[in-house]
Formats: sequence, C-alpha cells, structure tokens
Amino acid sequence: MYKVLLADPLEEVGIKILEKECEVTKAFDIDKAGLLKVIEDYDAVLVRVNTPIDKEIIDKAKKLKVIGMPGAGLNHIDVEYAKKKNIKVYNVPGGNMDSVAELTFAHILALSRRIYAASKKVKEEGCWNKYLFMGNELSGKTIGIIGVGKIGLRVAEIARAFKMQVVAYDPYVTQDALPADIRLMTLDELFATADIITIHVPLTKETYHLISYDQIKKMKDGAYIVNMSRGGVLDEEAAYEALKNGKLAGVGCDVLEDEPPPEKPVKHIKLFDLDNFLITPHLGAWTVEAQNRVAEIIAQKMLEGLKN
Ligand code: NAD
Repeated sequence: MYKVLLADPLEEVGIKILEKECEVTKAFDIDKAGLLKVIEDYDAVLVRVNTPIDKEIIDKAKKLKVIGMPGAGLNHIDVEYAKKKNIKVYNVPGGNMDSVAELTFAHILALSRRIYAASKKVKEEGCWNKYLFMGNELSGKTIGIIGVGKIGLRVAEIARAFKMQVVAYDPYVTQDALPADIRLMTLDELFATADIITIHVPLTKETYHLISYDQIKKMKDGAYIVNMSRGGVLDEEAAYEALKNGKLAGVGCDVLEDEPPPEKPVKHIKLFDLDNFLITPHLGAWTVEAQNRVAEIIAQKMLEGLKN
C-alpha cells in the first residue's frame, strides 16, 4: 500500500479517495525539521502554500514519487528539482478560480465603499455618519488586470457585469487569445489607465516586487491595488508609503510576503495600522465549493501518479 503524508489539511472527500488505496498519515502541524525526519518513509506528500518543499527535503525523500498541491500556485515547491529526481508534481489549475475572483471583488467593493472603516466606526464608536464615508462606483471605471490566466480572465468576466472597462498586462498572452473587450497593453500603459489594479500572476523571479514604488508613482492618484496572487509581487513597503501619502486610496491583500506574519501580536507590519489597507489570511480559495473540488481532483491525480 502506498504511504501518503498529508502535511496540510485536505477536505474529507479527498482523504477518502486516497484511503481506498493508500495508508494516509495526517501531520498537519509538521514543520521543516519534522518533514526532514519522516519524508523518506513516504511515496507521496501533500502540501499547501505555507509548507515549502525545497531541495533539502527532496534529497531526503528517497521513495517519493508524487507531490500534490490542492491549489494553483507552485512557487513553494522546487518543481524543477523534483522533476530531475523523477518526482511528479501535481496542482489543480483553475480549481479555485471562481473563489479567488469572487474574493478579489470582495476586496475591491470593500475598498471602494470603505466597508471596513465604516463598519469599525459604527461598532466601536456607535458613529452613524455617512458623510465620513463617501465611496466610488465601479461602473464606468477601468480595471487593470496583471496576469490574464484563469483567475484574471474570471475577474474580467465579473468586471463586465459591473460595467467596467477592462485592460490587461500579460507578456505571455496575445490580444487574439483574449475576449475582444479586454485591451492588452504594456505595464506602463496599464498603470496610467487603470483606476483599480488587480494582480493575478504567479510569484517568480520576474514578478517579485513587480509593483514597486517607482511603478506606483505611474498610477492615477487615488487608485486602488488588490493582490490576491502571492505576497512578494507587491512591495509592501511601497504600498505603505503610497497609502500614507495618499497616492493610493486603498490596497487589499489576501497574501503577504512573509506569511504567516512571524510575530503575534503583529506590530512590525506598518500596513496593518491603516484602515484603507485590507488583509485576509490567504482566503482566496477558501470556500466549501473550491476546497471540495480541488481535494477530489488532487487526490485522483496523486493516485494516478503513484500508479504510473
Ligand atoms: P494561471 O497560470 O492560469 O495564470 C497566470 C497568468 O500570469 C498567466 O496568464 C501568465 O501568462 C501570467 N504571467 C506570468 N508571468 C507574468 C508576468 N511577469 N507579468 C504578467 N503576467 C504574467 O494561474 P491562475 O490560476 O490564474 O492563478 C494565478 C496566481 O494566483 C497563482 O499563481 C497563485 O499564485 C495565485 N493564487 C492565489 C490564491 C489565493 O488563495 N489567494 C488561490 C489560487 C491562486
């Protein structure tokens, strides 16, 4: 029987599929030292985004045939090195695109209608004063999508329903491959055009700090940035400066460069002091529907990978 290590939680539907043909060990709190100790016993391991699989772990994993990631981004796994060692790496592209795109709009709407600050004011001070919280409509605004893959394209579809103009930057797609109403442009053009910028690229050497202060300076005054992709794509220090000096009206993030934040209470992340900075703890794919979907798919892929 194959031995599968779940280094992170998986929905029951996926566990049941694996358990039919594998001995499944749940070690959801395992850290790198723990993984290094046990990984040589396993044929397959499942990890989520905060459990990296690097060269050191792969070198210890003498029996490992399969690494599974029940989501999209693979930046935490050394995929190239795994492949060199004949280890198959599986993810679930597009399995959570609706959930992530929907959370993108949750952030955009919360920022443009100042929901967090207004709600806090009512709850903490009993202050019922609409004059403090004038918002903006999305209708007629331009959304700039950086990375028009599965999630970026779904964001574009939703934007259409809000009667927004859609512009995009993605050096790996052509205008012909996109729906006619998405206008592909350079990054500089996008910064100059968009009222709201939303990031949907993988974290790579090329996309690290793609949005820096120099880039933010090129944006419209009072623009919004939303980052649902990976921490590190948006320079957090730059976002802080731009929110503090009013260049940006709001920033929403589902991800952080240093994730989870290392200290509790979190004092060193200056962004957290600002009401026009929204943060969710990597909830993009965290819906019942997406988690059941990706659990089933990743379990099936891992089983196939083990057998072939
Ligand atoms: P995808 O591969 O379908 O799309 C990524 C797009 O980014 C592609 O079109 C690619 O050409 C483009 N791209 C790559 N490098 C680029 C660059 N330098 N500049 C501009 N565009 C570039 O992936 P997806 O399913 O749409 O997911 C996108 C990212 O979202 C994932 O890599 C992952 O990091 C992140 N994600 C986050 C969550 C979450 O919970 N917050 C969930 C799923 C995915």
